[in-house]
Amino acid sequence: MADERNKRTEYNWSWSGDDAGSYRAKYTRGFDPDYVKHTAERREEQEENTQKKREQAAQRQRRQRPSARRARLSAEQEVRSEDRPQRETEKTDRSRPVERPTVKSAQTRRTDSGKEKSAQTRRADSGKGKSAQTRRADSEEERTAGTRRTDRGVQKRKPQTGSRSRRRNTGAQQAGARNRKSTAYRRQMLRRRYTILGIAAAAGIFFILLLLNTYSLTITLSGDNPLYLEIGETYQDPGATAIYRGSILHFGDKEVPVVSEHEINNRVCGTYEVTYHAEHKDQEATVKRTVIIPDRTAPVITLDESVNVVRKGDEWQDSFTATDDQDGDITANVEILGEVNMRRDGKYELTYRVQDSAGNEAEASRTVIVSSVAINRPELARQGDKNVIYLTFDDGPGMYTERLLEILDSHNVKATFFVTDTNPGSRDLIGEEYRRGHTIGVHTSSHNYDLIYESSEAFWNDLDQEIEIIKEQTGAETSFMRYPGGSSNDLITMNDELRRELVAGMRARGLKYYDWTIDSYDSNDEYTSDDVYWALVDQTTVAEPKMVLCHDLKRTSVDAIDNYLSWAIENHYVFLPITEETPEVHHVDM
Ligand code: ZN
Repeated sequence: MADERNKRTEYNWSWSGDDAGSYRAKYTRGFDPDYVKHTAERREEQEENTQKKREQAAQRQRRQRPSARRARLSAEQEVRSEDRPQRETEKTDRSRPVERPTVKSAQTRRTDSGKEKSAQTRRADSGKGKSAQTRRADSEEERTAGTRRTDRGVQKRKPQTGSRSRRRNTGAQQAGARNRKSTAYRRQMLRRRYTILGIAAAAGIFFILLLLNTYSLTITLSGDNPLYLEIGETYQDPGATAIYRGSILHFGDKEVPVVSEHEINNRVCGTYEVTYHAEHKDQEATVKRTVIIPDRTAPVITLDESVNVVRKGDEWQDSFTATDDQDGDITANVEILGEVNMRRDGKYELTYRVQDSAGNEAEASRTVIVSSVAINRPELARQGDKNVIYLTFDDGPGMYTERLLEILDSHNVKATFFVTDTNPGSRDLIGEEYRRGHTIGVHTSSHNYDLIYESSEAFWNDLDQEIEIIKEQTGAETSFMRYPGGSSNDLITMNDELRRELVAGMRARGLKYYDWTIDSYDSNDEYTSDDVYWALVDQTTVAEPKMVLCHDLKRTSVDAIDNYLSWAIENHYVFLPITEETPEVHHVDM
């Protein structure tokens, strides 16, 4: 309490010259608003308290013995009048020792009274029956004396002694307590006010948020969008999620069921839509997923083979179609590279290109033959048809083979060559025949009857050599064979054991053998090319099937063949090479 008061009270000292060598010390008390403000109140309160205590003491004294009561009253009066000021003084003394000979501190007096002296005795000691009042008067004198001493130049702080000062101090304590009490109360009230304000503000903010909060329904697709599906693949919906959501407040958020519908035909390429729909309260949402079934299939170009060859001077009309599994007929989009010159014999390469709407490309090509001679139309017949002629040449290749190949080309005829190695220098023509689209069959290497029909072992040794040569020249295996002299030659038919072994060997090698039905008789040296021609024409009209035997080592055959082809083509025969589909022709079923 005392510390607090000291804090609040500040003393300001200043010096002023009064006269030479004499100074007057003045002080002003620091302004303490609280202190001044409540001085009157405190005084009143102090007086009330004092009065109360007096009355209480009086009551107690009335109950006690008169002498003791008097003694206590006297002591109390002394304490009340001197105790506090003295304490104050002591404090002042501690900081600023001042000589005060006539004032005896309460402490000192208490020490005196410590010698078991009664209040009565003490009063006698101190004098001479001085009452408290008197002593107060003394104190007043002391104060005056103090002032005087100060006047004489001694630094002296004006002591705050007496009941007035004490009352003031007690009042300050109480006022401090009251101040603290009222401060606490104000704080409490302030806290309450803030709490109420806080709650009101929170409610207000919540209400504003409630007003600002809007709900929306959002559909989120799972899986890819767009989603790609292969043609024929079943569409499996990856699904979607719909959330009913507040823009600010989320206590009403909710997942809502989604309904989806689509009309995807997984067999038709294209772009489809899957629609997702959700509804909740006043909100509804629709989201679409794109499903793409891409077209990865190229269109198909179909060329009309019947226009592959054309007679020189005739009209030529190209014929083809282009279709796409998605776009349908796209013939009009086909781009053609190349030209056909109808006024000149020759082979003209044409390339056809087309693109579907998805960008898939297709390409096809063909060779158009413009010829001044009759042109074979292999596309007009199938293997085994009655009007089909199989033109075969044995024993080559040889010195007339190249010329023969040119004649065959000019009529667009593909033939079959049963080759030997009797002219090793012409081996490469085997490859040339093969590359021009003719069929290569094996006819033994040596074509020496005495050697090959000596034994089955000798036969297969010889034949295997030629098979190897064919493979070297063409890069392909052959599966067609013709026996030198035919399966009906005496060397075979007269030797049952050899025939059985030849059959076993053919089966082991997967070979088919072909004899003939039409003989050109070109091996007869007495026959001219005209003879050969008429021999072929005559037999062609009657033979069934039409397997023609010629030899490309014979000039007569090669000379006759050009006219024969023209005659046959003009008469609607069609020349085909032997293929796997060609029915075998046997003189003897071995
Ligand atoms: Zn032969």
